[in-house]
Amino acid sequence: MNKKSKFPIYVQIVIGAGLGVLFGAFLPGYAGVGGFLGTLFLKLLKMLIIPLIFSSIIMGVVSTASASSFGRLGLKTLTYYLSTSLLAILTGQLFVNMLRPGVGTNLHKAAVTAPAATFSLKGIFLNMVPENIFSAMANGKVLPVIFFALLAGFFIGVLGEKPRRTLTDLMDAIYQLMMKITGFVILLAPIGIFGLIYKTIASTGMAVFGNLMFYFVTVAAGLAVHFFITLPLLLYLFTRQNPYRFMKQMIAPLITAFSTSSSSATLPLTIETIENEAGVSNRVAGFVLPLGATINMDGTALYECAAVIFIAQAYGIHLSMSQQAVVVVTALVVSIGAAGIPMAGLVMMTVILNAVHLPLEGVGLIIAVDRFLDMFRTATNVFSDSTGAKIIDYSEQKRMRKVLPPQGR
Ligand code: ASP
Repeated sequence: MNKKSKFPIYVQIVIGAGLGVLFGAFLPGYAGVGGFLGTLFLKLLKMLIIPLIFSSIIMGVVSTASASSFGRLGLKTLTYYLSTSLLAILTGQLFVNMLRPGVGTNLHKAAVTAPAATFSLKGIFLNMVPENIFSAMANGKVLPVIFFALLAGFFIGVLGEKPRRTLTDLMDAIYQLMMKITGFVILLAPIGIFGLIYKTIASTGMAVFGNLMFYFVTVAAGLAVHFFITLPLLLYLFTRQNPYRFMKQMIAPLITAFSTSSSSATLPLTIETIENEAGVSNRVAGFVLPLGATINMDGTALYECAAVIFIAQAYGIHLSMSQQAVVVVTALVVSIGAAGIPMAGLVMMTVILNAVHLPLEGVGLIIAVDRFLDMFRTATNVFSDSTGAKIIDYSEQKRMRKVLPPQGR
């Protein structure tokens, strides 16, 4: 992974993505090959998720010296996640109210509609605790695995010397193994990304944009502001480091997020890259990133808010200030509850539509371009998680330097 080749991996990935667009546009007949390569890559990524997050969270918690420093890390993470999601939602709200892409659009009410999602905060907490950790692992349920790993990491730390050492060594060995396999899978990313983008462009085509173009551009512009301005600004303010250099270091997971539309599937790459390319410690990356891939979705939050207000505009329904406030708060909660998988945001949107009494068929209006918007919002989700990890790592290191006397490294 670290060997310097003439074409660094990020250049190969950009080339793969570009070729995917070209092949999809001009050679759609062979998209099956792209689909095959893309699916293979996606399966390799998914194969890594559970063992990697399990071992990396445990190692992250074990290396967090005390309950109080664990609490501090948790508090920083949640504060970052909630505030950036809120900033994202307000950006979406601003853009959709300013540009008003839904006003006067002659949209046909599509017959298709997403099934209404049932959702409650109570449900999130109940689903977080696994009844059976093995079935949660076997079914790829990330949140319960995180919960169990946090507990396990914490209690490994209070065991006697021998079992603590045995379990820590074992987890460390599993973690290192998973990182090595992830490093190998990254080498295949250019081909996998080529396949995924080839298939998407060939099977969806550009015609779907039609009169949804203005809506698409509005949401994409909001996402771009959050991605290229807000998050980099936060990174600069808190760390004084060059945010665009960091963006370049994270290019492999960002393009993977874009082409897979899944923060969860991208997670192994995000962890590997942020540790090896951006120098974030395992202690922070192992804790902040798995949690982020599950609950921190800035792109999804922004999109939920903008899309719901767009639907209201398209139906000619005026949303009062207080109704818009309900949209903002519900979008925040829904983005926390949405899974890191393709189109999760679209299904969850019905929760917000319900909350402000908008017709659920509204989802049918925007479904055509959702596949594309999903790519942009997933990349934003992953960039926000990564920026959070970088900021928190910086602040933790600064604190360590203050607490511990200099070691003359
Ligand atoms: N696909 C997004 C993700 O995995 C979730 C969404 O549909 O907005 O992060």
